[in-house]
Amino acid sequence: MDIRFIDLKAQYRLIEKKIEQNIKDVLTHGQYILGPYVYELEERLSKYVGTKHCITCSSGTDALLIALMAIGIKKNDIVFTTPFTFVATAEVISLLGGIPVFVDIDEKTFNIKVDDLKKAIIAVDKKDPNIYPIPQIIAKSHKKFSKRAIIAVDLFGLCADYHEINKIAQENGLVVIEDGAQSFGAEYFGKKACSLANIGCTSFFPAKPLGCYGDGGAVFVDSDDLANLMRSIRVHGQGKDKYENLRIGLNARLDTIQAAVLLAKMDIFDDELAKRQEVAERYNKMLAQCREVQVPYIPENRLSSWAQYSIIVKRRDHLIKFLKQAKIPTNIYYPIPLHLQKAFNYLGYKEGDLKISEDIAKQIVSLPMHPYLDEKIQKYIVDKVIEFYNQ
Ligand SMILES: *Cc1c(COP(=O)(O)O)cnc(C)c1O
Repeated sequence: MDIRFIDLKAQYRLIEKKIEQNIKDVLTHGQYILGPYVYELEERLSKYVGTKHCITCSSGTDALLIALMAIGIKKNDIVFTTPFTFVATAEVISLLGGIPVFVDIDEKTFNIKVDDLKKAIIAVDKKDPNIYPIPQIIAKSHKKFSKRAIIAVDLFGLCADYHEINKIAQENGLVVIEDGAQSFGAEYFGKKACSLANIGCTSFFPAKPLGCYGDGGAVFVDSDDLANLMRSIRVHGQGKDKYENLRIGLNARLDTIQAAVLLAKMDIFDDELAKRQEVAERYNKMLAQCREVQVPYIPENRLSSWAQYSIIVKRRDHLIKFLKQAKIPTNIYYPIPLHLQKAFNYLGYKEGDLKISEDIAKQIVSLPMHPYLDEKIQKYIVDKVIEFYNQ
């Protein structure tokens, strides 16, 4: 049995003709940079998500960077975010000289914990780490720092609690950015992921729910002003053309060939989301009998895009070894929370500061998850998990 963690080949077999035709079109019409396919994709994506604008770009990381640049994040600006995410979420804050303030996660959803967010805001205002752990560079400095934004992450495809997050943001004059790199297609109270905050960002990295065949990303926004600003930032801060430069920007366009790939994938995307949902439900059912395993928790009025199927388990590292011997691939998202990563040492966090993230990082593991995972293989996987705990 050949078990893949993510099976992109099965998907390719389904849409091979359409993809090849689209790529050939690009090669024939010759508009390799921001050609018609890019604009067609942006229109289709913004309709799908339900925002006025979609600005495609070169990666999910650049989508976040463009969003932060557009709202003017600069040196010493504070941005609240979660430590239990891919590094890119916080990396972009530091890259602009801002200061990530990490807020612990909810133990069931693994998304930013709203009560902790409130505490972290007060702790920053009072520069008091006794209220909530904050970076030492804030606590120990006499400088004034301005709180600017929150980046919430829709981890594993489950949307964060935006009703609460947006409310806190409003009370504190903060911009909310939705890191929907893993949640494209997910829903929260009937609204699509990437439309739930002031700015939504996503990634089309191949392994994400909607992936291309290289790097890609997009920003979603309703504001015309922000959209114009972001389109300018995407191309070297251009004005009326690329030889008029109004601001410092990036070269962060989406490849036209990747747009052609994404257009073909959009045709089957909703079907794939439904299939992921079926796969998740089968796992939930099959794993229900296993006391050592805690299956994912999806609160009411949410539809996950199931970027990952992540479970909390006992004796995690032994289980992974056992499954590997049975040729079952697994992954750990994420083994080290960001506040303990060397790259963020300069903030001055220490072990024990954000306990839930630290605990979950030691117990979590993700099982194979993709739309084409069949019942037989899932049964084999779950049987092996059960076998491990029965030995
Ligand atoms: C993948 C990912 C990103 C970065 O996307 P890239 O396209 O790889 O740059 C950012 N945030 C989260 C939560 C991600 O999972």
